[in-house]
Amino acid sequence: MYQGSCLCGSITYELSSEPVKVSHCHCKMCQKQHGAAFATYARVPVKDLVYTSGTENLSIYNSSATVARKFCKVCGSSLEWNAGASLPEWTSITLASLDTPYQPENIIDLCTETRVSWFPNNGSG
Ligand SMILES: [Zn+2]
Ligand SMILES: [Zn+2]
Repeated sequence: MYQGSCLCGSITYELSSEPVKVSHCHCKMCQKQHGAAFATYARVPVKDLVYTSGTENLSIYNSSATVARKFCKVCGSSLEWNAGASLPEWTSITLASLDTPYQPENIIDLCTETRVSWFPNNGSG
């Protein structure tokens, strides 16, 4: 059993199975939503992800017709990426929202054609 939460702590969830795939997504939408070089998501069965508190603060942004990005409307934490009817049995959680330690065996990189130029840091600092 894994547990996770948003930054302000109002939204908590439990995950009752192991993630099946972990990826760094370098697409522009993930960069914008996370304000970061990439977003790291773990794919999990929809049925095994249960929100245990704070669902009144869970907001959804549809970044495309089928994709729902769920986040906390209080603190802005990104929590879930869901492809809706095009992938009905699966969803993805943001790996960094987990509170339980988890070490993926490997992480794949997606959408690397839009990878930012500044990560990893190639400067002199
Ligand atoms: Zn929050
Ligand atoms: Zn992405």
